[in-house]
Amino acid sequence: MSDNVKVAIKVRPLSSRESSNGNKSVVDKIPGHPQIILNKTDGKEEAFTFNYVFGATDSQVKLYEDCVKDMLDNLFKGYNVTILAYGQTGSGKTFTMGTAFSGEFDDNVGVIPRAANDIFSKVSEMARTNEIKVSCSFIELYQEQVYDLLSAMNREKSIVEIREDTKGRIVIPNLTETSVETAEETISCLIKGSSGRAVGATQMNQQSSRSHAIFTINLEMTNKNDAKMATSSKFHLVDLAGSERSKKTNATGDRFKEGVKINQGLLALGNVISALGNANGSNGFVGYRDSKLTRLLQDSLGGNSVTLMIACVSPADFNQEETCSTLKYADRAR
Ligand code: ADP
Ligand code: MG
Repeated sequence: MSDNVKVAIKVRPLSSRESSNGNKSVVDKIPGHPQIILNKTDGKEEAFTFNYVFGATDSQVKLYEDCVKDMLDNLFKGYNVTILAYGQTGSGKTFTMGTAFSGEFDDNVGVIPRAANDIFSKVSEMARTNEIKVSCSFIELYQEQVYDLLSAMNREKSIVEIREDTKGRIVIPNLTETSVETAEETISCLIKGSSGRAVGATQMNQQSSRSHAIFTINLEMTNKNDAKMATSSKFHLVDLAGSERSKKTNATGDRFKEGVKINQGLLALGNVISALGNANGSNGFVGYRDSKLTRLLQDSLGGNSVTLMIACVSPADFNQEETCSTLKYADRAR
C-alpha cells in the first residue's frame, strides 16, 4: 500500500424511515480497529481493513480531525491534496464532504467548510513571512463534459477543456478562478456553485447526483524574504457520482447512458489508484487518459500528492450488495 493514498470508510446511520420500515444494519465496526464486517444475507461474513473506519455514531468532527486536518500541512508544503467521496447514491457523500453546505455552521458540517476555515487560520499564521494567494474553482463533470459551476455564462457556454502544460501540470483554460481572502468568501463560492449542479430524479433518490463535483482550492505561496521559495498547490475536494449499477435504478435511455459514463470514470479512477499503490504489479502504467475524471486529477494522484478516499456506505440490509461492491472498490484502492 502506498502511504500517499489512504482509505477511510464512513458508515452512515440507518435513516428514521429505514428504522421504522424494520430495516436492519448489516455492517459492524470492530471497536478500536479500522475494520468492518459485512454480514451478508446468505449468512456469510466478510471482513475488510482500511486506514480508518467511521461508524454510524462517529461525528463529522472526528472524521475531519482524524484523517483530513493533517493533510492541510501537505498543502502548505506545496503538495497537491485530493479527497474523494465514493459510494452509492444516498450513502452520505455530500453530507460527509459538505458539498451542499447551507451556510449554517453546526456539528453536521462536512469536510469542505471545515477545511476552508483551517486553511485561512494557517494563512494568517504564515502571512508574516509569506505572500499567500488563495483562489477557488468549482467544476462538474457530467457525461464526459467539464462544466464551470462558477461561470457567469449559461450552462452550454460554461463548458471548459482539460489541458496539460509543458511542466505536466493539468490546467483548464478559461475556468473561473475566484480569488478569496477569507473562509467566508471560499464558502460563498461553494454555495454559489453547488446550487447550479445537475441533479436527476432516479427511482433510488430524487436528488441523486449523476455527476462528479470537484471543488478546488488553489494556494500560491511566496516567501517574503526569498522569492525563490515559492510553491503552488491544489486541494481537490471531490464528491463523486453515485457508484450504483444502472440496473438497480431501473435506468433506461439517457439515464442509462449516464450510468455507463459515470461507471467509466469511477472504473478509471479505481484502476489509477490501484496502479499507484501497486507500482510493481502494473508495469508502471497508469491509465490517466481513460476518463476525464482521472485526466483532471492526473497531477494530483500519485507523485508527491496526497490522496484520501472516503468510501461512504449505507448500513441497510437492502443495500448490502452495493455496500459490498463499495468495500471491494475501496479495498482495491489501498
Ligand atoms: P449521497 O451524496 O451519497 O447521495 P447524501 O450525503 O445526500 O448521500 O446522504 C443521504 C441522506 O443521508 C441525507 O439525508 C443525509 O443528510 C443523510 N446522512 C448521510 N450521512 C449521514 C450521517 N453521517 N449522519 C446523519 N445523516 C446522514
Ligand atoms: Mg450527493
